[in-house]
Amino acid sequence: MSFIHKIIDKARHPISSSSSSFSSISTSTSTNEDKHTTTKPKLKLEDFSLLRTLGTGSFGRVHLAQSRHNNRYYAIKVLKKSEVVRLKQVEHTNSEKHILESVSNPFLVNLWGTFQDDANLYMVMDYVPGGELFSVLRKSQRFPDHVVKFYTAEVLLAIEYLHSKDIVYRDLKPENLLLDASGHIKITDFGFAKHVPDNTWTLCGTPDYLAPEVIQSKGYTKAVDWWSLGILIFEMLAGYPPFYDDDHLKLYEKILQGKIRWPAYFDPHAKDLLKRLLTSDLSRRFGNLKGGADDIKTHRWFDGVDFSRIAARQVRAPYIPQIRGEGDASHFDRYPESNEQYGLACPDIHRDKFIDF
Ligand code: AMP
Repeated sequence: MSFIHKIIDKARHPISSSSSSFSSISTSTSTNEDKHTTTKPKLKLEDFSLLRTLGTGSFGRVHLAQSRHNNRYYAIKVLKKSEVVRLKQVEHTNSEKHILESVSNPFLVNLWGTFQDDANLYMVMDYVPGGELFSVLRKSQRFPDHVVKFYTAEVLLAIEYLHSKDIVYRDLKPENLLLDASGHIKITDFGFAKHVPDNTWTLCGTPDYLAPEVIQSKGYTKAVDWWSLGILIFEMLAGYPPFYDDDHLKLYEKILQGKIRWPAYFDPHAKDLLKRLLTSDLSRRFGNLKGGADDIKTHRWFDGVDFSRIAARQVRAPYIPQIRGEGDASHFDRYPESNEQYGLACPDIHRDKFIDF
């Protein structure tokens, strides 16, 4: 399998077929609760020093940033309006903002506020210093069963919470799972999250993790997240995803065929749960049945996992990142820094598309 490691050593980018003002941070005592209840002063670029790049996406990058007021560190996602428009991501980007604003959960990254200038959109989030689970996984090659259970349990609770608010996440993968200072999961990147009381049809996500109903444009529901949870569990246990091909069309064929080669070292209960998640028949897929997420939580593989202690973050994480000081970004890969200056005046021809930022 070493060729697979080589191929997917780099972050996998999602695909998609569709379509200066600010808020809080001023006090050091603000909580998640405050963000929904208080009127906040508008934030702006000058409130922060933008430091190194933590990660890049298709139409922008995420910077480590320090507040000039309270000296705290934040992660600021900068999206170039012209790229968002060119790549037809206006709706997704507005939705990312609205959804992140509307959620509050220990396993989801916290959005403090957003603002814009003539050229860019800015989203100010808590800085999550432990880096991507992706990097830890690639370094370890694969995780032992108990480690996979821990991360899966936290992700499962986050997905269950989102679904309870009729939000489908749609881009579950180790690149989007960050570790906080104590090693607990924080899901980031809500660029494809969508409010879906019913079905939705947009082709988006990251190829390795796409569910059959997404590839077949059948319309899909929250069940896609349970499929991706299956891919995630497999990838954490094996070190590579169950379906892989460099060529996306061949990859989609493999996903539709659904044939999986099971490593002999998989725990039989893990394999049983995976078969129930990685099933293309929506009327049989775990998570999507009458019992909802409880069917997964009560599966034999999770025997001994106390979900109420997981929810309270009382279970000690299997890997605690070494953080040397608040703004330590050593757990993130280095990216070439762009010399583009933010905040320059220019004609703002796209302002009407982002009125809520
Ligand atoms: P995104 O464009 O949202 O997928 O973010 C790209 C990358 O930036 C992620 O994969 C992370 O490595 C990094 N990143 C995003 N949000 C944060 C955050 N709140 N704290 C630290 N790093 C982040």
